[in-house]
This record gives sequence, C-alpha cells and structure tokens, in this order.
Amino acid sequence: MSRADRIANAGKRTAKEAREAANKRRQSERRKNSNKSIDIKPHRHCVVCWKPISLEIEPAVCDDESCIENNKKRESSRKRLTIMLYLFPGIAILLIFLQLMSGGA
Ligand SMILES: [Zn+2]
Repeated sequence: MSRADRIANAGKRTAKEAREAANKRRQSERRKNSNKSIDIKPHRHCVVCWKPISLEIEPAVCDDESCIENNKKRESSRKRLTIMLYLFPGIAILLIFLQLMSGGA
C-alpha cells in the first residue's frame, strides 16, 4: 500500500466515523425530543423548589417538608402584606375623612 493510499484510506475512515457519529447524535436527539413530547403533560411547579408536581396539589408545593414550611411562611407574610396594602390606604382615607368632617363642623 502506498503512502497516498494509506492517507486516502485514513481520510475515508474518519469521514465515515464522523458520519456515523453525526447519525448517532441525530438519533439520540430525536429520542430525546420524542421523550420530551411524552413528558410534557399539564403540570405545575412547587413554588419553593420548582419541582414539577401534579396540577391538583393545593397549595402548590411538593411533599418536601421544608417546602411546605417555606410555603407556609411565605403565605403568612404575603397575607400580612395584603393586609397592610389595604390597611394603610384605609387609614389614610379615614384620616382625610375625619379632617373633612372636623373642617365642615
Ligand atoms: Zn418543593
């Protein structure tokens, strides 16, 4: 076998290997994609760790105890925030109202 032949053969071999590798990659990608389409069902995520959970679970946390605790804390602080959000404007309106009443009297 001449030197040129050997080089040509090596080139052919690497080209074949590259083609095979590309084929394999394409196949695995296709497999991954088909898996993905099967996996995606309607679902929601745990509000703490974003783990996919069932749509029916309420509140939206997984069964991890730390997530449940974390969610409880968040809920209560959010409730407090909501109360403040209504309470402060309420007080302000009340004060304005009282001022108007006393001014009118
Ligand atoms: Zn979680």
